[in-house]
Amino acid sequence: MNRIDLHTHTNFSDGSFSPTDLVELANKQGLDSLAITDHDTTDGLSEALEASKDLSLELIPGIELSAQFQNREMHILGYFINLTDPKFQTRLETLRSTRMESIRHILNRLHTLGIEILLSEVEQAGGTGTIGRPHIAQVLIAKGHVQGLKEAFERFLGVRGKAYVQRAVPEAQEIISWIIDAGGIPVLAHPYWEGLNKEDSIAACQTLAEQGLQGLEVFYGTFSASQISFNLGLARRLDLLMTGGSDFHGTLKPDIALGKGRGSLHVPPKVMERLRQATGRQNVNHSNPRS
Ligand SMILES: [Zn+2]
Ligand SMILES: [Zn+2]
Repeated sequence: MNRIDLHTHTNFSDGSFSPTDLVELANKQGLDSLAITDHDTTDGLSEALEASKDLSLELIPGIELSAQFQNREMHILGYFINLTDPKFQTRLETLRSTRMESIRHILNRLHTLGIEILLSEVEQAGGTGTIGRPHIAQVLIAKGHVQGLKEAFERFLGVRGKAYVQRAVPEAQEIISWIIDAGGIPVLAHPYWEGLNKEDSIAACQTLAEQGLQGLEVFYGTFSASQISFNLGLARRLDLLMTGGSDFHGTLKPDIALGKGRGSLHVPPKVMERLRQATGRQNVNHSNPRS
């Protein structure tokens, strides 16, 4: 059996597992291919590559970046990026500093709502990694302001929450070009065409493809069969690669299991074949010796 999960987070961003523990879990569960796609950082990948060195598990270096496109925020995954590309790393540093700015804004909003949370408390929750809203949520829970993650996002941190701050992120075209510049394959994460009819979603996706997008995350941890078939049709129509993953975050998204999502995730082996072929076509010099 071939088992693939190309979308996971470690404690270098908002997951709860260390890269080593995640690799070990994936190996124990019999996964053949695992991509680690932390937000705005590739810093966990050297540890993960080291941990997977003597395993049959194939570790694919990845990342997940936020982007703006037609007034909505979307996430773009990058696979097989060259981790030592200095320009890419500088670009990631810029992203991380704007991320910190938005965290400060959120804490200010919470302050005006009478909730005192220090940046240092959020940083402590985030450990060594990129900090994000889930870490603010953890502090909100620890201080008794909310019962759980869901309430933290509904009341405060989510788009409709009282302390929501929209983070300024680069345009999709820019993010796509950063990934390509670093030798990677840009793939639209969890494509969800909220508010768009079929024709408009096709047009939007076509524009992204013209900007250099090479794939769609057709198979996703929480997608229904109809969402999968819609994105499958879109990928076929626009001749885009298909990828798939759970978006595993460990205990920070307890309903999502590694390799399984909510239970029915299945990423076909063909996905990996095509992804490898694509890197071959591009002649990518990536850091995983076994793929
Ligand atoms: Zn995402
Ligand atoms: Zn993700």
